[in-house]
Amino acid sequence: MPSLTRSLLLSLSRNPRAARFAYRHGDRLGVKQFIAGDTLDECVAAVRRLNEKGFHANTTLLGEAVQSPQEAEEVKKAYTDILHRLSEEGLRCNVALKLSHLGLGLGEDVAFGHMEELLQLAEELSRREGAVPPPAGHFIRMDMEESFHVDATLSIYRRLRAKGRDNVGIVLQAYLHRSLQDLEDLLPLRPNFRIVKGAYMEPPSVAYHDKKIIDQKYLELVQRALSAGCYVAVATHDDRLIEKVKAWTEREGISRDRFEFQMLYGIRPALQEEVLSQGYKVLVATPFGKDWYPYLMRRLAERPANVALVWRSWIGGG
Ligand SMILES: Cc1cc2nc3c(=O)[nH]c(=O)nc-3n(C[C@H](O)[C@H](O)[C@H](O)COP(=O)(O)OP(=O)(O)OC[C@H]3O[C@@H](n4cnc5c(N)ncnc54)[C@H](O)[C@@H]3O)c2cc1C
Repeated sequence: MPSLTRSLLLSLSRNPRAARFAYRHGDRLGVKQFIAGDTLDECVAAVRRLNEKGFHANTTLLGEAVQSPQEAEEVKKAYTDILHRLSEEGLRCNVALKLSHLGLGLGEDVAFGHMEELLQLAEELSRREGAVPPPAGHFIRMDMEESFHVDATLSIYRRLRAKGRDNVGIVLQAYLHRSLQDLEDLLPLRPNFRIVKGAYMEPPSVAYHDKKIIDQKYLELVQRALSAGCYVAVATHDDRLIEKVKAWTEREGISRDRFEFQMLYGIRPALQEEVLSQGYKVLVATPFGKDWYPYLMRRLAERPANVALVWRSWIGGG
């Protein structure tokens, strides 16, 4: 991908004027192809449709980097409602969230406290009769954000596990130089990993920029985690990597209940269907909410052709 376009789109993702413009014209920008809707009701309907087809799902209330303790508290309350609702509906749907949305920027303890409460609630709900067991339900994965959040995110993960919270998952980004070492350091905890390439703008001092190297590191992370006995969510739309993971797990005799493929709502749906039809577990990440702008910009940065899609929605007045 032309890295200039990627950098431009990622810097625009932090631009308040561009955000205000986008929120005014969201429908015309075609944002609905990438998110399940504005409300939890819309999200539940989308997840139900996915479950009926055989997909697993997760959901995220869109938003990040809250500025005050009250906002962080409100986000925690929203996730409390989400956990209750997913549980009542009996959906095969877990939660993925950003710690910066739970107040990480206000201090590690703020996000840790909220995470601990949410995991406690998920655990209580999972003990109800007929509850969907973790990790398909009643499980919370902490997304990985910009590299300056990685130490605190890993620290929160370790603290949660030290307190016996096991229904929590972590993410490692293949583009970061540090990730293979982070993986080795975490292995004694046997984490439930999600491996991604990495979605943020990072300097060459911390991240690889060459696609070939990132793909190679991606595969190394997946293979090392699986070889060490961890459960792995292989989160990518890269069909070549998906084929490599399928072939390697087959060769190594790693059973399909040790890993899953994850893709994002609205992205490469034909590939999602194909992998599912081959008998693999496929989870579709299904975010919802009104604060969709940074999420949309990261999806555009991943594939410049998406800018053309948005442009066509715009001129078509859709
Ligand atoms: C379930 C899930 C969770 C994620 N969680 C995180 C996270 O916690 N932290 C983080 O930093 N990143 C996260 N990401 C994003 C990830 O880091 C990548 O930015 C993103 O997945 C694009 O990389 P790729 O692996 O699909 O491969 P790429 O090499 O970028 O793409 C492979 C092919 O997939 C298609 N494709 C990729 N992206 C798009 C798109 N947006 N629209 C249309 N087609 C596309 C293109 O055809 C491309 O040729 C997540 C991704 C997924 C799928």
